[in-house]
Amino acid sequence: MKAVRLLGRRQVALQDYPDPRPQDGQALVRIRASALCGSEMHAYRGDHALDGNPGHEPSGVVVDASRSRRWRDGDRVGIHAVWGCGACPWCTRGIYTFCDRLSGCPGAHAELMAAPDHVCVPLPDDIPFDVGALLAGDGLGVPYHTSRRLATRGGDTVAVVGCGPIGLGSVLLQSFFGVRVIALDRSRDRLEMARRLGAAEALDVSADDPVRAVQHMTQGRLAEAVVEATGRPEGFALALRLVGKAGAVACNGENAEVTLHVGSDLIRRDITVFGSWFYHYREYPEMLELVRRGLAVQDLITARYPLAEAQQAYEDFAALRTAKAILEP
Ligand SMILES: [Zn+2]
Ligand SMILES: [Zn+2]
Repeated sequence: MKAVRLLGRRQVALQDYPDPRPQDGQALVRIRASALCGSEMHAYRGDHALDGNPGHEPSGVVVDASRSRRWRDGDRVGIHAVWGCGACPWCTRGIYTFCDRLSGCPGAHAELMAAPDHVCVPLPDDIPFDVGALLAGDGLGVPYHTSRRLATRGGDTVAVVGCGPIGLGSVLLQSFFGVRVIALDRSRDRLEMARRLGAAEALDVSADDPVRAVQHMTQGRLAEAVVEATGRPEGFALALRLVGKAGAVACNGENAEVTLHVGSDLIRRDITVFGSWFYHYREYPEMLELVRRGLAVQDLITARYPLAEAQQAYEDFAALRTAKAILEP
């Protein structure tokens, strides 16, 4: 089979690999859509070559179910980005993200993947493969799990700090829920995308004073909820200044070391700060239902490439020219 290989220093190649052989309790899936993720950019820009690629948001069709105990040839599936062991108390509840023996979905930018039965989720016929990749992966999975924990209600104001693909997912979802979304970024293109996905307001943090602007928009109350999706210390600091009394800050952006003043930032305003990682198995049917009720997940996708154009896909994504980008083997 052919699969993408990251060679380091922004070089991407398509290489031949032996076809994966499914083990007992695994299905062989022909990948039809594999989404690019911001978390891959570190490896893309890094100095070292990988054995393969860090793709982890695929969907496809089962083509060899001979070793599977759950799937049949021809079944359409999404594949969860986080692979739990399948047997521990967390995994039996479908919460693979808490498994002590978890691993990441390995190298989904490929023609084939052998995946354990339990990390595959059924993809109904009315859900396209690209949308399925976003439901099973980060694109909607992360914003949806975050939204469950934020528990915003219609009429609330939520500020989304950082309009990369994950932030844009929250813009789309929270707007769909009837929440007033204020999107913040320093890229005009990204802010324009946020508006198209439903944001009521879009603030350029490099030009506007975002705290004053949000105060003005909320009659001084600030936002009931903030989603931090930059992964940068200044993004987190801004999130703390945008959240109103008794509000909550959800952290989606990783890799930031931050400082906060426990008294003034948290205690004296009853502020909740929490982290949120991927989604739980039981949330997947809820996401399918939202798509059927009109949640326009496909609008998060702005580019599609055949596997042979992976180099271009990574270049466009790294240059922020695309929101969610899909490789189609
Ligand atoms: Zn990801
Ligand atoms: Zn487990």
